[in-house]
Amino acid sequence: MSADAVKENPTESKPKAEKQTNCPACNKLIKKIKRYYRNGKLYCSKKCWRSFVTKSKEEAAAAAAAK
Ligand SMILES: [Zn+2]
Repeated sequence: MSADAVKENPTESKPKAEKQTNCPACNKLIKKIKRYYRNGKLYCSKKCWRSFVTKSKEEAAAAAAAK
């Protein structure tokens, strides 16, 4: 008889990074199945990503024009 050493999985203790759960565009909770990932951020849909990009571009343009 051999005593098999049971390898137990070491309990993973990953540092909990701030998980993005809300859409930066509409601030709605992002559902796992419908998330849209772009440029390191999660959006709830492509539409929200577009509006967020447009909005940030407008803000940048406004900031440049305010000079
Ligand atoms: Zn959204």
